Amino acid sequence: MKIIMLGAPGAGKGTQAKQIAKEYDIPHVSTGDIFRANMKNGTELGNKAKEYMDAGKLVPDELTISMLLDRISQEDCGKGYVLDGFPRTIPQAESLKEALSKRNEAIDYAIDIEVPDEVIEERMTGRRSCPSCGATYHLVFNPSSREGVCDACGAALVQRADDQPETVKKRLAVYHEQTKPLIDYYEREGVLKCIDGTQKPEDVFAAITEVLK
Ligand code: ADP
Ligand code: ADP
Ligand code: ZN
Repeated sequence: MKIIMLGAPGAGKGTQAKQIAKEYDIPHVSTGDIFRANMKNGTELGNKAKEYMDAGKLVPDELTISMLLDRISQEDCGKGYVLDGFPRTIPQAESLKEALSKRNEAIDYAIDIEVPDEVIEERMTGRRSCPSCGATYHLVFNPSSREGVCDACGAALVQRADDQPETVKKRLAVYHEQTKPLIDYYEREGVLKCIDGTQKPEDVFAAITEVLK
């Protein structure tokens, strides 16, 4: 099963993608996580991506597309995958479609998690992440049991640099301009499924598993 998660930054794509990956035993492929891992390791790709990410802009397609296509050609992606944060532009979607069609493959579902902008801002500014295992929490909506400490691995939680209020506003504007057109794109492809993302995480997940049946 090949799934794409669509939705604004902070809509809950990562939260849901992690659960989908577990439920269907397919890898969770997050371009944001791959960029952050590269930044942490100081790779050339990481250094290039950092200036865009810190500014709330998209990393250029020429860096992003090859990295993603390379990732999904790895062996663990043979049974499918859930893409989180890719594609974010029409050229990314076109490149993905072209690469898949060469192998007679196609995306099965594009799941759009719908959340209004007002809700997005408080989700992103309250987000806390574990730099060690990648778990995600929210100060109000999904707190860790000990404040500031990851339940899964015990590491100290951090706020992502790009989750500061000013950068959040920029990222939302970038979303509306460059990523939102993908909703119409995948509707035309006949694979779009829309989910109400304002529900509790477990109810969002139940709605997703319902459409994946
Ligand atoms: P969120 O889900 O909160 O938007 P991500 O972790 O998906 O955050 O992305 C963080 C940042 O990484 C983006 O703002 C962008 O700079 C970069 N990024 C991630 N995926 C892509 C992509 N497909 N194309 C371009 N930039 C990307
Ligand atoms: P994305 O990957 O789309 O950027 P995340 O999954 O990281 O979004 O979620 C953004 C923030 O909102 C996180 O702090 C997360 O814990 C919280 N969150 C996710 N889903 C929900 C939900 N359904 N209701 C309330 N908060 C949520
Ligand atoms: Zn952790």
